[in-house]
Amino acid sequence: MQASAAIEMARAGQLYPALILHGGSLDERRRLATELARTLLCGAAAERRPCNDCRHCRRIDAAGGERFHPDFQVLERDLRTVTSVEATKRFVETAQVTPFEARGQVFVIAAAESLSPGAADALLKNLEEPHESSPRHFMLLAPSQFDLSPTLRSRSLSIYLGATARLEEEPVDRLAGAAAARLESYWRSGAAVELMATASVIEASADWKDPRAERPWAQAAAALVRAAEPLEPSRRRRLLDLAAALLEAPPLRLRGISPRRILEAQVFRHLRERRPVSAK
Ligand SMILES: [Zn+2]
Repeated sequence: MQASAAIEMARAGQLYPALILHGGSLDERRRLATELARTLLCGAAAERRPCNDCRHCRRIDAAGGERFHPDFQVLERDLRTVTSVEATKRFVETAQVTPFEARGQVFVIAAAESLSPGAADALLKNLEEPHESSPRHFMLLAPSQFDLSPTLRSRSLSIYLGATARLEEEPVDRLAGAAAARLESYWRSGAAVELMATASVIEASADWKDPRAERPWAQAAAALVRAAEPLEPSRRRRLLDLAAALLEAPPLRLRGISPRRILEAQVFRHLRERRPVSAK
């Protein structure tokens, strides 16, 4: 899911209780956590949230500093490389009380990739028991969602802020152009072979040797996002969904599935149009 959609859901009071904010830089993740928390707790009318000016907004900032809101807490890494189980337990204890001032509570785990296994367990118990009387949200910030345990991932909605691996402009551009050309042919002809060709230009664009590597998937996703820009809304949506699916793909590779098969399956699943495509 994209950040803007998450803000919309927060405004509508429909945001999932547990979120993973991954990708982007640490600053970008903290900024989005701040914006989401303000949207959730802001005192203004729903459509104006976050107003950035009310007594809630002004005191909420996931970047740390002097500001303090009792219903907004940030857990920072307390040891050199680890967020400890002790610190996590103290932190989730504050989630057992009802909100002090706002209509709900927001808890941010600033470096979720550093949670020790015990700390992740302590957190998980809280994700599994939603608070009875008021909305409560946990936001786990991490460079990649794959830094978190499968259990934490399965309990949370992932919001992706962009490639973590630093991508080079040029290969992304080249792939975006090549994929867009194949897709144009597909939309013109309706021939499934053009979808196969789309999967193979993606495959040819990167080195897939390391099954754990995130970069080829991130590059393919970035290229599809770029190729989606000029399209009409329903095709753009499909391409963005495909991009999101490719970001989820590395675990499939760890199960031994070849990149070619994954790419073909995902391209067909997201882009195949049922009815013959009309010429104009
Ligand atoms: Zn506000």
